[in-house]
Amino acid sequence: MQGGVFTQVGRIESRDLPIPQPQRGEVLLKVAGCGVCGTDHHIFDGELTRGVAPPVVLGHEIATRIEAVGPDVDGLTPGQFCAVDPVIGCGVCPACRSAQPNLCNNTTTIGYKLNGGFAQFLTAPARNVVPLDESVGIAGAVLCETLACVLNGYDRLEFAASSSALILGAGTVGLLWAQVLANSPCRKLIQTEPVDYRRDKAAQLGADLVLDPDADALSARVRRDLPDGVDFIIDATGSADAITQALPLLAPAGTLMIFGVCPAHERVQLSPYDLYEKEAKIIASKMPPNTLERSARLIESGRIACDQIVTATRPLGALADAVAGFVDNRQSQIKVAIDPWA
Ligand SMILES: [Zn+2]
Ligand SMILES: [Zn+2]
Repeated sequence: MQGGVFTQVGRIESRDLPIPQPQRGEVLLKVAGCGVCGTDHHIFDGELTRGVAPPVVLGHEIATRIEAVGPDVDGLTPGQFCAVDPVIGCGVCPACRSAQPNLCNNTTTIGYKLNGGFAQFLTAPARNVVPLDESVGIAGAVLCETLACVLNGYDRLEFAASSSALILGAGTVGLLWAQVLANSPCRKLIQTEPVDYRRDKAAQLGADLVLDPDADALSARVRRDLPDGVDFIIDATGSADAITQALPLLAPAGTLMIFGVCPAHERVQLSPYDLYEKEAKIIASKMPPNTLERSARLIESGRIACDQIVTATRPLGALADAVAGFVDNRQSQIKVAIDPWA
């Protein structure tokens, strides 16, 4: 089979690989499409190394069909269309035993340490696979994992009716957050995004007000509508500068959600006194612990405009360029998916 192998920082090679065999409790999956994510870009750039074991096939936003099932697999049959939860915890540490494998220190995550979705086939534990209705298409299945992450973040916010929110960034994550909040009792939803094309998407997909953080007087404009500030700031940029800029806009008793993955060396400037005055909270959300099933049902409901987010499909031969060019692609794409059979 064909696969794109991350061999070292700055290098992804197209290789002919053996088709893996499903072991006990595993399924063999035929990849229909796999999304290129900001974390793939961070791994490629060498900014994210924890839990990554090259040579490895990256790709954790996987739309697949079950090709074969290994021994002791119940309830899954060849031909089923599926999404994949990439997180595999050690199973024995306190985090794993409290159903939070995303916080395990010894994860063997698919697309980080185990071969992922930028190949024609992969194997995965059957318990990490969630069947999806065919009607959601490849875009719906590709976004299922990211939406599961957003639902985990949403649960951690304890969002209340009459809350206001500011989402930083209108890439895949920001646009999924906007749609989840647009379906919630959110009083006012503001979104910032420097790229014109993405601001148009944000306005179309749920934000009440969309601002350019570089051009608009962000603070004055937000406070015109929300004089006390915003109840929830959700970072979907993974940029410490964006967080530093927005943090003073937090309302009393407000919460900052760290959601986008910042490069490990970045630092946010904050005023401890300001946070004290506001009794503010800073929380974070990391990967989906057990929200994939809910994400699948939400995507099947048709309330998430997946086709508006997956804006391009590329062949495996274009993988290295798609990962390396992740930042430049922001001008014209939201989510690029790889079709390993194209
Ligand atoms: Zn991702
Ligand atoms: Zn563990």
